[in-house]
Formats: sequence, C-alpha cells, structure tokens
Amino acid sequence: MSSECLNINEIFYSIQGEGLYTGCAAVFVRLAGCTMGCSWCDTKYAAQTNMRLAPQSILDEIKKYNCPRIVITGGEPCEQQITPLLDLLHSNGFEIHIETNGSININTQKVKCLTVSPKRNPHPEMLKKADAIKCVIDDNPQSSSQALDYQKYLKNGATLFIQPEGNKKENLIKCLELIKQNPQIRLSVQLHKLIDVK
Ligand code: SF4
Repeated sequence: MSSECLNINEIFYSIQGEGLYTGCAAVFVRLAGCTMGCSWCDTKYAAQTNMRLAPQSILDEIKKYNCPRIVITGGEPCEQQITPLLDLLHSNGFEIHIETNGSININTQKVKCLTVSPKRNPHPEMLKKADAIKCVIDDNPQSSSQALDYQKYLKNGATLFIQPEGNKKENLIKCLELIKQNPQIRLSVQLHKLIDVK
C-alpha cells in the first residue's frame, strides 16, 4: 500500500453545521486520530481508523457525490501528511476546506477555507492564515477572554466565531453576552446536531 495512505475514520456527504459555510452541502473526509486529548471532544470516535486510503482512493470515493466542496476534518487532519491529498483534490477542481486545531503549520495555498479551532498552543502562522477562528465557550471562566485574545491574529476579512460547548444553554448565554459586547464576533452553533443530521 502507498506510503501516502491516510488513516481515515469516515467519508460522508452532509451539510456543514459550523462556521462560515453553515448550511452548505459538503463531502466530509474525517481523518483518524488526534493527540490533543480534549476532555469534551465530541469526535472521540475519530480515534479509530476504519480505512487506510491513498489520495486517489479518497478522490474516487468523493467523486461518488455530486459536490465540489470537500471538508477535511478529524480528529486532527494536520497530524497526517495531507499535502498529496490537497494537491490531488485541487488539481481535480475541488474546493478544499480544512478544520484543524492549528497546532501544526501546513501549506494552505490550495485551501479555500481554513478554520482553526485553537486548543493548546496553536501555531501563530495558522491563526494568521485562518479564514475563521472558532473558539469553544465552555464552563471555564477564561474561555471568553481567551476567545477575544485570538482577534489579534485575524487577517483582513477573517471571522472570529464562538461556539457554545455541547450547544448547552449556559454556554449559549455566555456566547450571546460576548457577542452583544463585541458585535464583530459571530455565533456558530452545531446546526447538524440541532437538526439531527450527521
Ligand atoms: S483538538 Fe479537536 S479533535 Fe482533537 S481532542 Fe480536541 S476537540 Fe477533539
């Protein structure tokens, strides 16, 4: 099997539930594994590798769906060597989106939408390249001020989203207060969970 094979958890077709492209159709390529180990991670199941696929096999799977938009997510996709996959998708005319915790600085020249959801030690260059920085607001009293701190990295036209952890009411209330005090920030809810789709 090719050394370019990637550990994949799942590939599926759905709508984007978070961030800039909320409500848009996309094929999701969920890479397996993440070493960050956040206690509230809602994709812990992505630790499991269900397929090892070469970029060409991933492309063949993606082509089964009639959708030009591909979201590379995880787990943490940048912990694997995804550049050959990005090159192949780009040369086949796909619009590439990446969702990452931003801890590893990768070449994003071929990426249409880079969303960084920072956890521990995000790479400053990834924050500066991001089209969206998405911060989770949880019961940590520091989470609101930490989210505001990331504004200094936003490039021109980029957006800071805050997202209530687990779509919980108490976290949503904190988000709404923060947004009303800082109208440049946007709310991201996990729409796919609210409407109960994958
Ligand atoms: S960085 Fe993201 S994928 Fe990794 S453990 Fe944390 S929430 Fe889960």
